[in-house]
Amino acid sequence: MSNEDKFAEFRAKTNAHSKINKVIAVMSGKGGVGKSLTSALLAKNAAKAGLKVGIIDADITGPSIPTLFGLNEDVKGDGLEIMPAITSTGIKAISLNLLSVNKNEPVIWRGPVIGGVIKQFYTDVNWGEIDELYVDMPPGTSDAPLTVLQSLPVKAIVVVTSPQDLVSLIVEKAVKMALMMDVPIIALVENMSYLECPHCGEKLHPLGKPHDTLASNYGIPNYEELPIDPLLASMCDEGKIESYDKDYLLKISEAIHNL
Ligand code: ADP
Repeated sequence: MSNEDKFAEFRAKTNAHSKINKVIAVMSGKGGVGKSLTSALLAKNAAKAGLKVGIIDADITGPSIPTLFGLNEDVKGDGLEIMPAITSTGIKAISLNLLSVNKNEPVIWRGPVIGGVIKQFYTDVNWGEIDELYVDMPPGTSDAPLTVLQSLPVKAIVVVTSPQDLVSLIVEKAVKMALMMDVPIIALVENMSYLECPHCGEKLHPLGKPHDTLASNYGIPNYEELPIDPLLASMCDEGKIESYDKDYLLKISEAIHNL
């Protein structure tokens, strides 16, 4: 990666009250594979490590960060800037679902409008001091995620897939996009990869074999499989992701801290 930022002129600026050290984008090929869950687990790990953490819910058409963290109150703004919501462990978060818009109406904006909102989440929110800002990206590798990579100073990308996804195709697309944008892919997460037998601990792969060599084939330095865990699903639904006590994605978190 070159030191020169070839997208410098497109970069969004933060406001005077924000000092953001590192932006990490979490991407997937399609919705529903566990991108928000991965963003939340990485944010949780970082907060547990004592870092100041933020999350931008950039999945504008399917925002789920407020649900995972049990955030129900709308955020407040003063016309100049917006104060983010704060989770029970001190993670700052912003999402379209935390603004006073009709939460049950589908968002049918086109790519550039979505890109504009995400930029505003970066520029118009008073983030204060942040060590790691996670961006839960719009799903796919189309217009909106491209705008995000162009306008935010993303330091690294985490790609999330599931076994039934067209994984190699998605990884290939993400790798190409990352190369175009001069951003490294730091990790591949294969979510819902296995089920652990509660009796003997054997790992079963009901959705197909894991793609455990794919990351290294593409030169991605970290790979982790997440199990299908009914407890995790219920804690997501109840907004208690921060109380989930299994330490997944720790190696990936450490790699991000060390960037
Ligand atoms: P995406 O952001 O890719 O659209 P989410 O992270 O919002 O997907 O995941 C959708 C839902 O699927 C979660 O709220 C959770 O209930 C469930 N889920 C995701 N991954 C797992 C898992 N590994 N085990 C159990 N449930 C999961």
